[in-house]
Amino acid sequence: MRVPVRASLQEIEEYKPGKLVKGAIKLSSNENPLGPSPEVIRELVKRLEAGELNLNVYPWEKDVEELRDEISRYVGARIEKDNVVLGAGVDGVLDTLARIFIANGDEALIPIPTFSLYESLVKIAGGMPRYVKRKSGENFDVPVKDLISACNEKTKLIFISSPNNPTGNCIPEDEIREIIESVDSRAMVVIDEAYAEFADSSLVNLVTEYENVAVMRTFSKAFGLAGLRVGYGIIPEWLASAYKKVAMPFSVNSIAIKAAIAALRDQAYLRKTVELVKHERAFLTENLRRVFKKVYPSEANFVLADVSPAKSREVYAALMKRGIIVRDCSSFRGAGDSFIRVTVGTREQNEKVVEALIGKYSHSKKY
Ligand SMILES: *Cc1c(COP(=O)(O)O)cnc(C)c1O
Repeated sequence: MRVPVRASLQEIEEYKPGKLVKGAIKLSSNENPLGPSPEVIRELVKRLEAGELNLNVYPWEKDVEELRDEISRYVGARIEKDNVVLGAGVDGVLDTLARIFIANGDEALIPIPTFSLYESLVKIAGGMPRYVKRKSGENFDVPVKDLISACNEKTKLIFISSPNNPTGNCIPEDEIREIIESVDSRAMVVIDEAYAEFADSSLVNLVTEYENVAVMRTFSKAFGLAGLRVGYGIIPEWLASAYKKVAMPFSVNSIAIKAAIAALRDQAYLRKTVELVKHERAFLTENLRRVFKKVYPSEANFVLADVSPAKSREVYAALMKRGIIVRDCSSFRGAGDSFIRVTVGTREQNEKVVEALIGKYSHSKKY
């Protein structure tokens, strides 16, 4: 006889990461096509070889403090070190927040389609996700009025990805303020800015104005360190003690801490990444528009395309045959079966995507 697992696990789906096939061009997980800064690699190799990383010892508080300090300076003048918390990726920070705020039967609001982890974390914590459909006719904007009216006394968290994965759009500041102010002290508004570096603006300073806002950032996307798992939250100071109670001790490892510090110190490399991505995002968007009926404007390092009348799984399979992996968005709740998401790659990679699609799908348009 097996020991029964929690009944509620039946409701939870495994997280399905973008596929990885050896030798293929992987444009399915929004990673940095340039990889991390060479300075980061040099720093790690140097310290490892010099025996300075002491991998037999738990991560040092002093190094954690240094990273939090560097992050606060990087994020903005109004953010203090005490506002910065770390986690094993944004995923780790989100998990801690869900366990801080969600008790059995509590609810969280999620505008969909969006990053699927939010709903899993809410369910795992014993809560109920409630979904509000983004406005598909208008670049998937957040339906502010619907969201506010869906908020009730059980609502503890509201997850807003901005830029949103997979749609690429940001929520305008006046709209997020309307949400924050109307839910007030009832619910925490979690703004996930995993793609902030590629966007024109950030909402991070709202943390200094409101007590019910937390902003998530990561080293996985623009900094090219997805494999090391390090992310952070900018949270109001009152929340820090609850965070320390609930977060796993030592959730960010010694190597990741050093790498993140080194990455922040190479701002030139970050600028190079962001410039490349913005330039190539324009190229990819423009060229995909020659193929598909709608390609959404993006403030992130990926582009969403509506491939109808084709189905996303057909386009996904056709590209896979040519050695290119994109994201079939049918796994995103509320996305339907005609969207693909393509990570912005190098010019060579982006050209290959366009070449593989043009001709094949540009002719299949039935209008
Ligand atoms: C990629 C992604 C994350 C995960 O970030 P990690 O720091 O690697 O855990 C979080 N949120 C969104 C919206 C993402 O797209």
